Amino acid sequence: MHASMKKIIQDQSKCIGCLACVGLHPELFAADETTGLAKMIDAKAEGSIYSRELDDSADVEVLPGACCGGAISMETT
Ligand code: SF4
Repeated sequence: MHASMKKIIQDQSKCIGCLACVGLHPELFAADETTGLAKMIDAKAEGSIYSRELDDSADVEVLPGACCGGAISMETT
């Protein structure tokens, strides 16, 4: 048995820099001053895809719907 986890995923190639994610979850996203886009903090990067495992209790459900570019998705494992 293992505790279920959530994975939050950002495809930065779809990010339009609205920074809604930074406003909602500044512990997960920061504005990259060079690109003007949001960058996931402490994330694993594979090309333009950034991901981070979160505890199941993390309250991040609002993020995919709030992302103006459709860049953020979530998986439960
Ligand atoms: S909410 Fe989505 S489009 Fe807006 S900055 Fe964050 S990742 Fe980019």
